[in-house]
This record gives sequence, structure tokens and C-alpha cells, in this order.
Amino acid sequence: TMVDKDLGGVLKSFSAREIAAMLPKLLYEDEYYSVALIDISSGVLTRCRMIFSNDEDVIDRSAEYDSVRRTVTDKWISDEEREDYEGAGDLTTIIKNLDDNGTYEFTTHHVMDGEVLLFRYRYIYFDKEHTVILTTMKDITSLEETDMVTGGANRKGFKRLADRIFKGETATDRYALLYIDLKNFKSVNEIIGFKGGDALLRYFLKYINNSPLNPVLTARNSADHFACLVECKNLDYDRLADIFQFEFIYDGKSINVYARCGICKVDRFPADVDAMYDMAKLACNNLTNEYMQPYIVFNNDMSDLYIKQCMIHSNLPYALERNELQVFYQPIYDPYTEKIVEAEALIRWIMPNGDVISPGLFLPTPEKNGHIAKVDYFVSHTVNKFIEDRLNSGRHVVPVTVNLSRMDFYDTKTPSAIIDEIIAKSSLRPYRMFEITESAYMSLNDRAEEMIGRMHSLGVGLLLDDFGSGFSSYGTIANYDFDIIKLDMQFIRMLGKNKKSGKIIRSIISMAHELGVKIVAEGAETREQVEFLKECGSDYIQGYYFSRPIPQSEFEKLLDEC
Ligand code: C2E
Ligand code: MG
Ligand code: MG
Repeated sequence: TMVDKDLGGVLKSFSAREIAAMLPKLLYEDEYYSVALIDISSGVLTRCRMIFSNDEDVIDRSAEYDSVRRTVTDKWISDEEREDYEGAGDLTTIIKNLDDNGTYEFTTHHVMDGEVLLFRYRYIYFDKEHTVILTTMKDITSLEETDMVTGGANRKGFKRLADRIFKGETATDRYALLYIDLKNFKSVNEIIGFKGGDALLRYFLKYINNSPLNPVLTARNSADHFACLVECKNLDYDRLADIFQFEFIYDGKSINVYARCGICKVDRFPADVDAMYDMAKLACNNLTNEYMQPYIVFNNDMSDLYIKQCMIHSNLPYALERNELQVFYQPIYDPYTEKIVEAEALIRWIMPNGDVISPGLFLPTPEKNGHIAKVDYFVSHTVNKFIEDRLNSGRHVVPVTVNLSRMDFYDTKTPSAIIDEIIAKSSLRPYRMFEITESAYMSLNDRAEEMIGRMHSLGVGLLLDDFGSGFSSYGTIANYDFDIIKLDMQFIRMLGKNKKSGKIIRSIISMAHELGVKIVAEGAETREQVEFLKECGSDYIQGYYFSRPIPQSEFEKLLDEC
């Protein structure tokens, strides 16, 4: 039973009974963390829970709105969101928005008992005439932590729930975290469409929850990647192959789906869920014979690689500005005269401790996020300077090729910047060439094709890199004008192991010559390989047999000897 109190000076115009009668019409639902009234004229906030309480001193617990906000800020709001929260919750801002739009809301994270929760703050006029605002605060964390496709948790939800489970846990042999990857998901999408693909993701979550793994927690973390927290006692390795292979029926079509997983034992506390997920993922990406054994447990060797990758990720954004990226040159030889005819510019990352990191390790990251364009601009610019300096001092120069990535063409400024620099110095043009891999060609858009056409018409050479490594579509050769085709290393690697490879090399070379295109064979390491390539008529050879990629100073010495 409610006591109808006189709310005194705090909410002059209303009694508790009146408020109780009005609230349901304004709120629609009742799961609020808190509901309060703000009296604008006095600047006082009163919690409705307090108004309806039978506790007599309750009215005294009303407080200045601004001091309530200060308490919330100090207690719950993280440093990063503090400024936003202070701006959004300002009384003048609230009133302005209410007068313009009738309602106003914003969301902010609260750190409560070590957990990060998402709250939605809403404001409406309780009574405009008497300038009283109704404000609600609702915990909408689950919205942010739900995966919309499967209805289960997403990465964020998984992390918070796992953190909750690990709180106070000490047993270092109880849990394992699995990163699960559906292997042929892309082709599933092609066969049954995106709707079918989504249905598979939903099905898989249910399937894994009902499997003998009997997970404590599951989540879809991204695309076709799932996280799964299981008790080690349910981790029967012999049964994993069975579990990770199942039939999915959609729209009358039956599809065999395979999954693979990386396993990270939860063997230390406090446990860093994100790091463990990344380690499980790294392990999974190291699986070799996944059809025989679809799982792999993260071990200490991988740990070195993991630490290295973390270091790469965190330092890469600074590598350019700290001058840690260097251009190396690998000379390309005419095998008949044994003279240097060209060179390929290859990027290297020299760490402050002298460690040299190869592009295979650090380029995938900028290639994904598009920052590769900055790297390639740097390489092209460095090569320009190198050639210009040598030309200006009358020293010997050979054409230098620079690798372009497919992502370069998504950048709106870089390709033009690269071309403009070359246009500005016409003396450079005969010495500048670009190589693009076949798979990159396959995905070029119109704008990219136009840029390539422009380079070509300027007299800048074009190479098709890694020919034979991927699709090897003759359409690529037919549709673009290359000056040189680079034969992928794999053919040379197969010489002696596979009888057909020699014949394939020979026929690719003769096809190229029919089209008036020159061939560079990549990756020759032995005398025999070089002899064979010469005999097949390969125009040029690039490989460790002649030279590895070397720093500019060493390359200059080689050129000076020519
Ligand atoms: P790529 O363009 O096919 O470059 C040839 C790679 O083969 C180089 O590896 C080179 O060191 C290696 N190689 C050459 N001869 C031999 C050999 O006889 N034996 C063996 N085992 N390897 C040989 P690197 O420098 O590690 O570069 C790897 C890839 O990274 C390159 O493949 C290229 O796709 C990419 N990359 C390198 N620098 C850049 C760059 O500045 N920009 C872009 N976008 N990609 C780059
Ligand atoms: Mg290349
Ligand atoms: Mg290549």
C-alpha cells in the first residue's frame, strides 16, 4: 500500500498518487534499472522508487540532478566515455532536445562490479507545463551482446559471460576455449544462398550446443567463426572428427559441412578471454591435415608466433613514421649473359633490435584494412628517388618493379599520387614497372582498370605476378596487355618431383613468346633449375641462385660493377 506523501518542495505540483497514476501511460514496460523525475525549476532529481517507498526519510534522498550525475560519472563511467556522457546528460542539452523532438535518448557504458554494461538513458516530458521531466535508465547490454543472425551471444557477450564464469575460478585444468571455423562456408553460401548460409549458422549453434561437447558457453564471433567454452572432461579428442562433420539439409539440398577448431586451455587466471580466442584461432590456422585431424591444441611454439604477431599488430602503425620500413632489391638476371636486367623492390621491416620481418608476416594486416596503399606509395616513392639519384650522377640503372596490391585501388588518393610522381619526371618512366598478381587482376574494378591503362599508356611496364599460382585464367592474359609474365615459383619447386611440370613450364614460356610477352621465372635456387629454365627459353630469372633480396647499398654495389 502506498502512502500518498506530500512531496514537499521537490515536486511541488504532484502527489505520489498522481505520479503513480500517470507513470504506466508513459513507460509502456517496466524493466527499468531506474525511473526518476527531474524538476527543472529546482534542478532536483527524485527516484520514483523512493517516491513510492514507505520509508519516511525518502524525500530527503532526492538530490540535485547535477550532483547525481557527478556521482554516476565518478562511480561508473569509463574514462573514454566520460566527456560524451557529461555532454549528453547536460540538463540544457536535454531540454533543448525535448523541445525540438519531444523525446531524447543516448546510450553509455557503465562499469559496475567490474562488468561493462550498456545503458540507455531516455527522457520525455512528464508534464511540460510544470517543467517536470521523466527519465529512465535501462540495461540494454544484451542487445549489444546478441548476434542477430543466430540469436546467441556475439564476441562481446561471450567475453562478458566467460569473465563472469572465470571470476574466482582457480582450477587450471577445468576449461578449454575452442575457436571453431566452418570450412566450406563460402561454397555453402554459393549453393544455398545467403539465407541458407544464415540458416546453417543458426543450425550449427544449436548443433554444437547439443553435441557431446556440452559447452558452457557458445557464441558466433564473426562470419563463420564460433567460440565455445567447454569443460575439459567433455573434450574427447577421438570424437571431435565425428562431431565436426555433419549433414545440413536446406531447401531439399543436402550439404556436408566440415568444421575445424583450435583449442586453448584455460590454464591461468585472471584469464584474458580475447587473447585466448586469438591463440585458439592462431592454432587453428596452423592445422595441417585438417581432414584427418580437425583440431589442434595451442602450444608453446605457437606462443612465440603469437607474441610476434601481437608485436607486429601493435607496432605496424608506427613502422612507417619511425623509418623502420626499408626497400630491398632483388636483382633479376638474364641467364644467358648473367647480367642484371631488372630488379624487384620488396619491402622489409627492420625492427629496432635488428630483426628483419618479411612481408608475408606483416602485410596481411594492412592488406585487410587498406593501409597497404601507404606502404606501396612509400615503396614507389623510394624507388623513384633511388633511380633519379643514380640517373643524375650518371650511374648505371635498370628498371625496377614495384608490387601493387588489389587494395591499393580502393584507396582514393594513392594510385593517382603514385602515377603523378612518375608523370612529373619523364626520365623515370622507362625504369618504372608495376607487378600485380593474377588474383588481384580478377577483382579489379573499372577505376582500377582505368589507372592501369593510364600507367601503361605512359610507358610504365606492367607485369603479371605469380602466374600459375591461382586461377591461371587465360582470360587475364587475353584481356590485359602485359610486358612480362612472372612464372610462379611452384613450377620450379615441382621440377624433378612431378614429370609434367617441366612440360608446363615449357609451354607457358612458348605461349608467352607467341604473344610477344617476356617471361621471368621466379624462385630458381639451383644450377640445375637455372640450366633447365635456360633450355626452355625463359628470358629472365629471379631467384636465390643469383641473389636474394638485398639492401639498397648492396644492390648499388652490384650495379656499379655492371
Ligand atoms: P612476390 O611479389 O611474388 O615476390 C617474390 C618473393 O619470392 C619475395 O618474397 C622473394 O624474396 C621470394 N623469392 C625470390 N627468389 C626466391 C627463391 O629462389 N627462393 C625462395 N624461396 N623465395 C624466393 P618476399 O620478399 O618475402 O615477398 C613476399 C610477397 O610479399 C611478394 O611476393 C609480394 O606479393 C609481397 N610484397 C613484398 N613487398 C611488397 C610491397 O612493397 N608491396 C606489396 N603490395 N606487396 C609486397
Ligand atoms: Mg612480386
Ligand atoms: Mg611473385
